Amino acid sequence: MLLSSCVVWRHVEWDDFRAECPAGDEQLQRLVWERLDDGLAWLVSLGAEPVWEDTENPRTTGKRFDPRALTELLARDVELETSLDPDAGRPLVLATGGFAKRVAQDRGLLLRANPWSDGAGLELGLARGAAVTDGLAEFYGRAMLAPPARISEADFVPLSQLYGRWARVFAEDGTEITPASVSWSENDLAQTIGRQPHGRAWYVLDDGGLAQAQERVDAARVAGGTVVDPAKLSFDTPPGSRVAVHVAAAVTHTIGGLRVDTRARVLDQAGAPLDGLYAAGVDAGGVATGGYASGLAQALVLGLVAAEDLAG
Ligand SMILES: Cc1cc2nc3c(=O)[nH]c(=O)nc-3n(C[C@H](O)[C@H](O)[C@H](O)COP(=O)(O)OP(=O)(O)OC[C@H]3O[C@@H](n4cnc5c(N)ncnc54)[C@H](O)[C@@H]3O)c2cc1C
Repeated sequence: MLLSSCVVWRHVEWDDFRAECPAGDEQLQRLVWERLDDGLAWLVSLGAEPVWEDTENPRTTGKRFDPRALTELLARDVELETSLDPDAGRPLVLATGGFAKRVAQDRGLLLRANPWSDGAGLELGLARGAAVTDGLAEFYGRAMLAPPARISEADFVPLSQLYGRWARVFAEDGTEITPASVSWSENDLAQTIGRQPHGRAWYVLDDGGLAQAQERVDAARVAGGTVVDPAKLSFDTPPGSRVAVHVAAAVTHTIGGLRVDTRARVLDQAGAPLDGLYAAGVDAGGVATGGYASGLAQALVLGLVAAEDLAG
């Protein structure tokens, strides 16, 4: 959360949520969609000050916060660096942020997330007999600059190569892989790039594309990205190509994970809740399967329902 753009959002239309994340658990999706506005009001009641009162995307609604201010507010009463005995018999809410690190390593992709979320919550759940959802290899990702550019955590947002919808896309061997259409989040394009050898590709822009992407391309150059004249590539590009940017798929967070119910209780293989074990955030799987939805909304709503269940 600290590294994020901190836009906590949902789709405006329920049908859009279902259409964009078609393989997700409908009940969990309904929970997030219906409870998010209350969750946001709760954050504001705690003193969180929105930076945006709504998103800038007509398909979505929500609020944007300053990630550091929100993290500090929510961590105010958290005791850090205390040791935890997960077997002490007390209820436990897993919220270790999924296993992006592991997926990035296994698939040879870049990591666009904190370097600690490597599946500790998943492992603990599995050891207690938890079931997992489909889509364990699925991730929400972005195209970033391919090495040798080095991207610091502070550059995860500004150096996202979020203009692939205006580019022709080529694998490193010159095969064109431009999709017929690209979603607004470009998560689908990141998946396509992630399936190429080394998870890399070239974005090739003409004048029209460059007009949309100029600022980001300039920033890519400054950051040491490989930004070249398309004539210098080892394959032919379409007439009118003006610039080529070497990009790589990066993993932001996992989509699959522990199976939970609408009270965030972790379920076993038979669908029964495991005693005292909850999962919130992207440790829980199955909300955005097949697409992309707000991980922060999932974290907020599942965290709240887990707390309500524990209090109730
Ligand atoms: C650059 C970037 C931009 C993003 N922008 C947005 C956005 O605008 N909107 C949106 O909805 N989502 C966004 N996301 C995704 C969003 O940040 C995540 O989906 C969300 O933070 C998931 O919440 P979480 O609580 O599950 O995990 P996290 O917020 O990742 O928190 C998990 C925490 O657990 C810690 N941890 C890991 N393992 C252990 C362990 N074994 N023991 C103790 N602690 C552990 C981690 O260090 C981390 O602090 C963005 C992410 C990134 C990286």
